[in-house]
Amino acid sequence: MIPIIRRYYTDPWLQELETKVAVTRQEGKKYFAVLEETLFYPTGGGQPHDLGTINGVPVIDVFEEDGKVVHVLPQPLQGDRAFCVLDWERRLDHMQQHSGQHLLSAVFEDKYGFRTESFHLGEEYCTIDISAPALSVREQNAVEERANQVIFANLPLLTYTIGPEEKGSLPLRKIPDLKGDLRIVEIKGFDYSPCSGTHVSSTGQIGLLKVIKWEKYKGMTRVYFLCGRRALRDYARKHEICTGLVSLLAVPEAELQERTALELERKAELEKQVETLKAELTGWRAQAIVDGGESPFFLEEDAASVEEAQQLARAILEQTDGVVVIKAGQRIVLAHNQGQEPHLGRLIKEQAQPLGGRGGGSPTGAQVYFPDDSGLAEFLNLLKTLLKSF
Ligand SMILES: [Zn+2]
Repeated sequence: MIPIIRRYYTDPWLQELETKVAVTRQEGKKYFAVLEETLFYPTGGGQPHDLGTINGVPVIDVFEEDGKVVHVLPQPLQGDRAFCVLDWERRLDHMQQHSGQHLLSAVFEDKYGFRTESFHLGEEYCTIDISAPALSVREQNAVEERANQVIFANLPLLTYTIGPEEKGSLPLRKIPDLKGDLRIVEIKGFDYSPCSGTHVSSTGQIGLLKVIKWEKYKGMTRVYFLCGRRALRDYARKHEICTGLVSLLAVPEAELQERTALELERKAELEKQVETLKAELTGWRAQAIVDGGESPFFLEEDAASVEEAQQLARAILEQTDGVVVIKAGQRIVLAHNQGQEPHLGRLIKEQAQPLGGRGGGSPTGAQVYFPDDSGLAEFLNLLKTLLKSF
């Protein structure tokens, strides 16, 4: 068996490497290559695989198989030399998130005894599920504060392998069910975790850790957090939003929340006033319509919503007996206070539906929608004849 030199472990800051191709194979449109040494971390331990290129060919996946690191490529490699270039931005991001996760989990356990049950390193954010039913603002802030203290203290991260007999000699945060040697990632003197991932060399390289939010999840608490460049980008985005709001509302940043609450309160108050005025106006309009004409009332209110048309029809029928027909855009709203006849719902069904109208209603109130103008015009003409005597 070829010994594979995993340079992502021995030198996690190495970004380029020239090595030899050891084995290749093809499966359909995918080409698999094993190299004598590799920079590319294979998916595992909650951490996604690395990306990059080998001889200019993009690496689309990396996985581990029978102790070998297999690189998946969309086309074959030429020759037996392999010039590897790592997608460094992605790798550094993964190292910052993963080391940040160890730190955050250690702080949760150290301060409150909450164990980390699982870790997810996603494209957008990272999460850990911790053995806590909920999290208070005070706890969240205290954990964040402590984690960043450890970042600023710039403690070294050490990685080493221990034999099974040494498991008891270290205060391991988690003891896996694995037989054989264990790879340990230690935040010097602070946390000892078995882990197969790639990590930064000192906590300062995590840069920054921010807890974004938490939610209840299967009896645990799922904590969302960002580290390093992700946290910086999030800060930049939020700063941009804040700056925009400061200029929109013309208040200092510290007063944004208070002013927004005030504006929302004002908006609700104004909406209430508009409703009252609209109802009053509808009453006045109904009065003018009743005074200026007689049933059946045919009205055109193309800017009105169905609700507004219905309100107007109700207001008219509060003041007089008769039938009201309101055209509101492509809709027609009908109402009367003449008892059971004419049955407006039936009228829609029997007369409007054959003309392409969609709608229905009760004996005294109905509405219909016409997707095209000709059906609508024809139905309106029909109504003028049918409702003449009401
Ligand atoms: Zn880990």
